[in-house]
Amino acid sequence: MALHSLRFRLVLWFLLIETLALILFSFLLYEILARNLYTHHDDLLLYTQKNLTDQIQPLVVTNFTDIPADFYKRKEAFEIRSSNGKTILSTTEFQKISNNIPSIPYEDGRFLTAEADNHEPVRILISLLDGKYYLLQASWLGDIKHTLYQLKLILLILVPVVLAATSFGGYLIAFRALKPVDQITAKTREIQAKNLDHFLEIKTSDTELRNLVETLNQMMRRLNDSFRNMRQFTADASHELKTPLTIVAGTLEVTLNKNRNSEEYKEAIQTALEQIRRITDIVNDLLLLSALDSGKADSSRRPLDLSGLTTEICELIQPLISDKQITLSLSKDEKTVVLGDRNEMSQVVLNLLDNAIKYTPTGGSIAVKVRKENGSGVISVQDSGPGIPKEDLPHIFERFYRVDKSRSGDSGGTGLGLAIVERIVESHSGEIQVSSKKGDGSLFIVKIPLT
Ligand code: ADP
Repeated sequence: MALHSLRFRLVLWFLLIETLALILFSFLLYEILARNLYTHHDDLLLYTQKNLTDQIQPLVVTNFTDIPADFYKRKEAFEIRSSNGKTILSTTEFQKISNNIPSIPYEDGRFLTAEADNHEPVRILISLLDGKYYLLQASWLGDIKHTLYQLKLILLILVPVVLAATSFGGYLIAFRALKPVDQITAKTREIQAKNLDHFLEIKTSDTELRNLVETLNQMMRRLNDSFRNMRQFTADASHELKTPLTIVAGTLEVTLNKNRNSEEYKEAIQTALEQIRRITDIVNDLLLLSALDSGKADSSRRPLDLSGLTTEICELIQPLISDKQITLSLSKDEKTVVLGDRNEMSQVVLNLLDNAIKYTPTGGSIAVKVRKENGSGVISVQDSGPGIPKEDLPHIFERFYRVDKSRSGDSGGTGLGLAIVERIVESHSGEIQVSSKKGDGSLFIVKIPLT
């Protein structure tokens, strides 16, 4: 198992924490039990001390001149010593301990642990009788030693066994818990750009892993969508460029087939030039869109008066309007100032007006309004053109989308105008809306936050 494996590290950490916890637990268990056992003995000694003192008291009064014989045979281990350390009375039980008890002076009420002749530990309580004699009571600690030894043995065996069992269990749990991660890795490896529509189907009840799988699937869905869009876009762009190129090539080939008069050459060059202008328009729009998409457009945001800008553009397009005998009306709130890029916002107004003129029949009308509304500068362009069918409305901002596909090149548009408008409006934190009905004109509304 590699040291860098998450499973291995999980088990290692688990083992480390468990070892520390078990050592601490064993230590505390041992200490608390030992303390309790000693306290128990001390309590017993204190308890018997009271009885014993009462019974010995008469002997103290007579200075132990008359000690009853059965006193020596009592089951309690105790001894009476005089203040100079001489033994006055010692029960048979106490004599088994005798030798190793520290000599006087003693402290009243003091507990001490000594070793008996048979090397067994013994607990001793010393008390002063009438200020002249010492009562030494003893209690065997042999059972404590034995109990603690057994506990130590159990812990020494049990702790490694528990550690071994739980680390094995821990490994199994870590293995099971991380198995879906292996599956995710294997399945994700199988997914290439070509099969991005194959999603991960990994069954797991863990919320974290389910979230991971769901997030990966969402990411793949997005990647899949953008790959599809990219493929579609490349196909559309190639198609858009291919048509004028075919026309140029065809015109030149036909012209070169035989000798032509200068009028015919002029006509051919004229056609080729028109198509080259069209190619140039498409390429320029594509370059602009790509710059806007990548955020590399050379834009600079400054306070910009939309009313002034729209008025200028309306004046600029006067010739186009007059050609088609279209009535253009402009109403505006003065000083509708937004933070925007002049060139980009000009492009927005120009594209919307260009479409309105393009699609409005001769003698129609266009109404342009610039106003301030709810914190936004609003430009609306209403035309009396053919309108846009309901089913096409959601698509008109897509690149190269045209409502009338059969007349794709006729209008002179590149099919990128509204895509550019939408991209610029978005980059200005604004929004664009369109409402239109077939045969009932179209209304485009652009909203940009005011400064
Ligand atoms: P184009 O260069 O073809 O005008 P746009 O992206 O500007 O491309 O517009 C996309 C399509 O939306 C157009 O082809 C047209 O079918 C439709 N459209 C846009 N503006 C109008 C309008 N004012 N009236 C009717 N149809 C419109």
